[in-house]
Amino acid sequence: MFLEKREKNALTGYLTLNGFSLDCVKELKYLGVVLDRLNKVARNSFGIKSNVSSLIYKQGIVPFICYGSQIWGSALKKKIYCRLLRKIQRRIVLRVISGYRTISYEAVFAISGFPPIDIFIIRNNEFKIATKNCTNKCLDGSLRVSELPHPSERFPLNLVNYRKNIENNFPVVCFTDGSKINTKVGLAFVIFQDFIEIGTRQFRISDECSVFQAELLCIAQAVSWICNNEILSSNFLICSDSLSSLCALNNIYSQNKLIVKTHINLNFLRSRGVQVFFSFVRGHTGIYGNERADWLAKEATKLRDLVPMSIPKSYHKKVFKEKIISEWNNLYQISINAHLTKEFFPSIQSRLKAKHFHPNFKLTQFLTGHGNFKAYLKHFNLSLTDQCSCSSDTIQNAKHLILACTNFSSERCTLMKCLQKNNIEWPPPLSAFVDGNSSFTFFCAFINSIFPCIN
Ligand SMILES: [Zn+2]
Repeated sequence: MFLEKREKNALTGYLTLNGFSLDCVKELKYLGVVLDRLNKVARNSFGIKSNVSSLIYKQGIVPFICYGSQIWGSALKKKIYCRLLRKIQRRIVLRVISGYRTISYEAVFAISGFPPIDIFIIRNNEFKIATKNCTNKCLDGSLRVSELPHPSERFPLNLVNYRKNIENNFPVVCFTDGSKINTKVGLAFVIFQDFIEIGTRQFRISDECSVFQAELLCIAQAVSWICNNEILSSNFLICSDSLSSLCALNNIYSQNKLIVKTHINLNFLRSRGVQVFFSFVRGHTGIYGNERADWLAKEATKLRDLVPMSIPKSYHKKVFKEKIISEWNNLYQISINAHLTKEFFPSIQSRLKAKHFHPNFKLTQFLTGHGNFKAYLKHFNLSLTDQCSCSSDTIQNAKHLILACTNFSSERCTLMKCLQKNNIEWPPPLSAFVDGNSSFTFFCAFINSIFPCIN
């Protein structure tokens, strides 16, 4: 249990689980890793670095806190439990950003880039439920092992390299393509016999589906079309511009319903003496058949009827991320705290966009205003004055030191030049320092150079 000293004595005597009383421990083992005293090894000015503690948090602490959350997650409807969880999380994330204990929750989460854990748990549970739902109607659901054909009845694809005039060796050539335009997904194949177009098929699938699904379904439909056309009894060539679909179809252990069905169809054709060959063609390289299939697939997005396909995990993941970010951003915006941090990161989206940003002890102080500044120290009676040594009537805070303090004019020169190059006038909005990689590098160098001289 994670408890503060004053909570320890008050609580532990009364808490039981299945008749066993819960004790307070200094360390615990989780998946073979002993978690103990992160506080002792990740100090502000020494110990493990921010990126290491961030990794420990993501890979060790989050799974630990979320353990069994699908069962107890519904309890987070009550605000009091959310607050308790955030309290535990904040203590750990403070180690990641190497910040002082006085920093607000909103600033801690924004600087670390980790969302409040209760939002994560609630949305994660929704994500897990959504990805489990796949109706039997879907053409590409997953089959149980007992429903799969024996591996000896499944064969890898007959793959051939596409070359010029390959059509001379194959009397019937089929081109397949899937396309996504204006969020709509269509697919189509076109069949040529002796260079003459003899048939096309177009389908549309749900907007949430991926192009990969469209490409895979298209090849499967082409094979199925060959199966149903008994008049044609020669060798076939199916050309696709999707390498990932061909690789997926080549996997004889796949449990995907669509792939299994295609393997069964290919076996049936083989028993009739018909061989189907597959080839990868590069898209948009002027191959007529490919261009024609591409055009038909784009046209197919206008169809009304949809072929039932499962919604891919990637779509749910996208929605899951968007929901977390928007909810987290709402909390961040409506809060009256973290006003200096909000000048650097006006929104959570802008924080997450800054991939180059890694917090450390010095940076966190400047981004929160909670640090070795006279205004902050005076607040805790650690300094007699809150005024800067550069002038008698200026309060020394993070913003003054960055933008105006005359004690650091020479150090500020390179930073100003860098912003000038990007056409940003001085004084810039504070977000300009963390937006781009180059200005952030200069900003870090500036902070490092002035930090030892602040007094
Ligand atoms: Zn000053």
